[in-house]
Amino acid sequence: MYWDKAKECMSREDLEQLQLERLQSTLYRVATHVPFYRKKFKESGINPDGFSALDEMRSLPFTTKDDLRDNYPYGLFAVPLRDVVRVHASSGTTGMATVVGYTKNDIKNWADMVARILTATGVGADDVVQIAFGYGLFTGGFGLHYGAERIGASVIPISSGNTKRQIQILQDFKTTTLVCTPSYALLLADTMMEMDININALSLKYGLFGGEPWSEEMRTEIKNKLGIIATDNYGLSEVMGPGVAGECRECNGLHINEDHFIVEVIDPQSLEPVAPGELGELVFTTITKEAFPVIRYRTRDLARLLAEPCSCGRTLRRMSRVIGRTDDMLIIKGVNVYPMQIESILFDIEGTEPHYQIIVEREGRMDKVTVLVEVVESIFFDQMKKQRQLMEHIKKRLATELGIGVDVKLVEEKTLERFEGKAVRVVDRRRL
Ligand SMILES: [Zn+2]
Repeated sequence: MYWDKAKECMSREDLEQLQLERLQSTLYRVATHVPFYRKKFKESGINPDGFSALDEMRSLPFTTKDDLRDNYPYGLFAVPLRDVVRVHASSGTTGMATVVGYTKNDIKNWADMVARILTATGVGADDVVQIAFGYGLFTGGFGLHYGAERIGASVIPISSGNTKRQIQILQDFKTTTLVCTPSYALLLADTMMEMDININALSLKYGLFGGEPWSEEMRTEIKNKLGIIATDNYGLSEVMGPGVAGECRECNGLHINEDHFIVEVIDPQSLEPVAPGELGELVFTTITKEAFPVIRYRTRDLARLLAEPCSCGRTLRRMSRVIGRTDDMLIIKGVNVYPMQIESILFDIEGTEPHYQIIVEREGRMDKVTVLVEVVESIFFDQMKKQRQLMEHIKKRLATELGIGVDVKLVEEKTLERFEGKAVRVVDRRRL
């Protein structure tokens, strides 16, 4: 099922031609209407009219969150405020908020892109969609809301929080589709179990989850507890909001709405493109947005692009789930390593617990990494041979995935410290 088959299943050649034309007009517009870009292009000696191929965009300067903050609140808008019909902003917990705007046309495109991801999950006009994302300056609630209305679904704009009330509405309003963060979906499921609610009696069929990184393991848990099809979607307010990319029913990577965005994956250190399929930082250029276009926006989100075509028939390229932030990156023996990479491998291996710690030390001039992994009791005690096999297996998987050798130590359940809130997974002794 497609929302816009002509666009979602376009040939690569046609898509790239469309991208180039839209990029050209975007560059012209930002150079004309946004002093920040005009100045930046001038400093880098870029002629915005001179782009004749997509890969020339590598010469364009990056845009960062700091650039957005420096131009607070409206400095990067490319249209006068009278043409802006909606304003959103990200929370300013670590400094000034970043403010983004939308024209009528931007809102229409946004709703269409969200309609694509809802349709790709299977949601349609007969569905009842409970949106438990926050409504307000955050893009989550309104973003999904307009898309769900666009497909003709019945929308329940309950917003976030108040778990008991969410559960009552899930039951009474016969909600078929739940929209929230994956961790909130699990909280709802666990609370319903505590309340002895028969989850099988609910009308729930689909869940669209986003707003935070989650693992395949977590998806399995949500699917099992709620008995639903659970898909991942991705977006950020600086680029648009939810709907930048979303999974189809294959649940194997998120189709990026490439007729509206050009995606690149770069090494966050060298800023050069990574090899195809390698993990790196996602960079987006918007090519249809009118009010708030961004050129080569560095998201700090880490993912990889998947090259293989998807069996659903969509030709829009897929990205892997986001596995973390560049802020968490470690450089070990010159190789970029992300704790989430290690976590996702451990989740995958039977007999290990999701508790681990990564210890980085320096022996002489060499970095040495030891991964402490908690294992289930039955393996830790009295099964030396099984323990050794498991250790070798983990070592091999980590070496293949990370590209560097690491030591693995198995430890008894509940040995590693537990944390309230964000866990400390990495102990880097090189700097001590
Ligand atoms: Zn697909």
